[in-house]
Amino acid sequence: MSTIKTIAFIGLGNMGGPMAANMVKGGFAVTAFDLSSDALALAKANGCDTGHSIAEAVRDKDAVITMLPAGKHVRAVYGGADGIFASAKAGALFCDCSTIDVQSARDVAAEAEKMGFSMVDSPVSGGVAAASGGTLAFMVGGSDAAFEAAQTVLDPMAKAVMHAGDSGAGQSVKICNNMLLGITMIGTAEAFVLAKKLGLDTQRFFDISSKASGQNWSMTSYCPEPGPVPTSPANSGYKPGFSAAMMLKDLRLAQDAAQTSGTSTPLGAEAQALYAMFDSLGGGNTDFSGIIQMLSGEMTKS
Ligand code: NAD
Repeated sequence: MSTIKTIAFIGLGNMGGPMAANMVKGGFAVTAFDLSSDALALAKANGCDTGHSIAEAVRDKDAVITMLPAGKHVRAVYGGADGIFASAKAGALFCDCSTIDVQSARDVAAEAEKMGFSMVDSPVSGGVAAASGGTLAFMVGGSDAAFEAAQTVLDPMAKAVMHAGDSGAGQSVKICNNMLLGITMIGTAEAFVLAKKLGLDTQRFFDISSKASGQNWSMTSYCPEPGPVPTSPANSGYKPGFSAAMMLKDLRLAQDAAQTSGTSTPLGAEAQALYAMFDSLGGGNTDFSGIIQMLSGEMTKS
């Protein structure tokens, strides 16, 4: 039986807002904090208490969940003079659900441990729809004991909570997975563009390739060409879904990690370059599968 009943939730943006609302639905007493007063008002309407500062929000809480833009925000929110470490209850559990660089995740968790807290990095797969529906997949890095405690806390927001390994392993899985996703999306899009140029019928190419060795998730669950997979964003003007800007962020994190670990990832580097080009052509706010429009030559800089 978990003893965690009170939660502070810091970072109530596109993802954190609906996630905090699901924690309330899950029966936790949630105190929310964000720099944005609009986000705080929405959290209040969704049943959260609100704090005037991080210190006030986290004081005496059993656990703290953070959902912030990048590593520098996470370092500041945990470590700052008025941050979480300085104000949290002794022994509290911290779950950082932001997508950040592996080194920041490891450093902040090591600092937490030194101060007697337990912490997991628990980035998510699934976008705003999954955050609202409580169907996110959490990839968790931390000790066995911290993972076990985090499982109960993350449950109201999750369809799956998976243990990836020690601190930083959640972020590592997330960026390796998304580097692979970026690469397979570009490869799939190129294959559909070439198939069309060769005079093949799109549906027929899909029917055959999806049963042959070209089969992959980007093709059969999220096809970048309209038609074969009715639920894919290609059928609704490439409305995200998962935006190309978010994909670019994750590909950059993967390249940072490749550099710091001395790993050669030439296709990851190429995927980053292609998504950066797509972004500079104005594709950042479209779904990441929309890169097919650039690859097919339908897009030029305005
Ligand atoms: P967002 O920009 O909508 O929200 C971030 C929130 O953090 C903002 O409301 C901002 O005011 C708040 N914030 C920043 N600094 C703060 C501080 N010092 N104190 C309190 N609040 C602070 O971002 P998002 O889309 O909700 O994404 C959050 C994280 O989730 C990112 O790391 C992102 O990569 C990851 N993610 C997003 C998606 C998605 O589809 N949006 C999917 C998977 C993962």
